[in-house]
Amino acid sequence: MENDRRDAAITHLVDRAYDDAGEAYTLAAYVEWAGAGGHPSDVFDPEGRGYVADGLQYLLTGALCTRLAGHDDRGENRAHEARLVATDQRDHVREHPVERAAFAEFVGDALVIGDAGDAEGAYDRAAAAYEAAAPDDPVEWATQPPLAAATDLLQHCSRNTSREVAWDDLHGADPNGEKYLAHRARYKKRVFPAVVASVLDAGVLHPPRGTTEHRSDDWRCPDCETNEVNWTGGEVVCLDCSARMESL
Ligand SMILES: [Zn+2]
Repeated sequence: MENDRRDAAITHLVDRAYDDAGEAYTLAAYVEWAGAGGHPSDVFDPEGRGYVADGLQYLLTGALCTRLAGHDDRGENRAHEARLVATDQRDHVREHPVERAAFAEFVGDALVIGDAGDAEGAYDRAAAAYEAAAPDDPVEWATQPPLAAATDLLQHCSRNTSREVAWDDLHGADPNGEKYLAHRARYKKRVFPAVVASVLDAGVLHPPRGTTEHRSDDWRCPDCETNEVNWTGGEVVCLDCSARMESL
């Protein structure tokens, strides 16, 4: 079982139909939270490994799409909704302190995308929560569902902008240090507002990076003629400009 709404949202991104992408991403979040998105857990399951964060990633991406479509008020509503779900997870559902810190990080993300003020304070609280949690295996935590979804959100938004973010940028220099995970929140505090501003200025959100193939013999971009391929959400698009590729 896959989350078809997410695939539909990616098709709308390729078409640069941001109103439709905003709706499809919002529905993808609801599908995920109902436990029908391909993971065997719903939004109220504390044992569910935190896949509820995938829904937050989708709803916040949908909020940004809706702002890109020119509907700031509706996009801000969607970001506010994401913030309330993240707060509920942080305070009432998640049991592990690292997971609670990850949902505190999402509160900051929602404030940035919703342009709703004091994201800096929210990221400071998330950084403090990561430091207080001090897990023995921070690198392993960084790849777990809630943190991975919060990473994907930033990396997706930054794709093909002048502020493109690499996975290593987001984490601290010492993989065993207590600041390894806290660095995520501090880095986002510095960088995410500029990433969102850059997407809104450009008027383009590229589809997320999926499986890639470099120097393909089978595909060519009709727009920029590269043969760098991005397979994402059922689409085959140019890794650089996100036009649909031509099969050779
Ligand atoms: Zn291209």
